[in-house]
Amino acid sequence: MTPISIPEPVIEAVRNAQHIVVLTGAGISAESGIPTFREAQTGLWAQYRPEELATPEAFQRHPERVWKWYEWRRSLVRQAAPNPGHLALVQMERLAPRFTLITQNVDGLHQAAGNRHVLELHGNIMRSRCWREGRIVAPAPDDTHIPPRCPHCGAFLRPDVVWFGETLPPDVLAAAEQATNEADVFFSVGTSTVVYPAAALPFEARSHGAFVIEVNPATTPLTPHASAVLRGPAGQVLPALVQAVWNEARA
Ligand SMILES: [Zn+2]
Repeated sequence: MTPISIPEPVIEAVRNAQHIVVLTGAGISAESGIPTFREAQTGLWAQYRPEELATPEAFQRHPERVWKWYEWRRSLVRQAAPNPGHLALVQMERLAPRFTLITQNVDGLHQAAGNRHVLELHGNIMRSRCWREGRIVAPAPDDTHIPPRCPHCGAFLRPDVVWFGETLPPDVLAAAEQATNEADVFFSVGTSTVVYPAAALPFEARSHGAFVIEVNPATTPLTPHASAVLRGPAGQVLPALVQAVWNEARA
């Protein structure tokens, strides 16, 4: 693999930053082998449209099918481990004066890597919440129902993710927007910049004067507006960046 060289203006901006904000998307998870929603639709799941698997209406009609779909995806997540891109973000959290990590991913790999504060815009596939009360609960270990039932009220549990047609958790989105507005350096990592409202964040950061750095192997709608573009997978670019800025050994 070719070594990634980090341009001097990027090193300067990151080194002088008081508040670094990083937004991550599916690309960094893909590098850990986590398939996208569509890629996970193999075998018996291929016959369904996404809205038959990931909407409140689908859950009301076919709770067992929807729960099993998430069981399947959780099994894929359990086989995955954080990659060097995730680990570089743990180092950044430790080294930056202030650091906010915002993710669109639902797999919890940032926390598994060791990041302590993660704003999960789309929830977390490993968590469950009560369909009726909305509170986060873990199913009882001996619960064999599909879906399992809320230990408090007996209603179905649902995965704590944002389904099609649902709004993002307002407190998480507000915290993400506030951090974005205060950032002096903003990274957009492995995100296609097409799913709103997350896709708006790098543009908001730019309009508030942040130095916006895109880390992506591919061109996105953000590319022409970014202050700098680091072409390549997060697992190569981010460790090279951390080393260039802080002279840290690779994770
Ligand atoms: Zn309940």
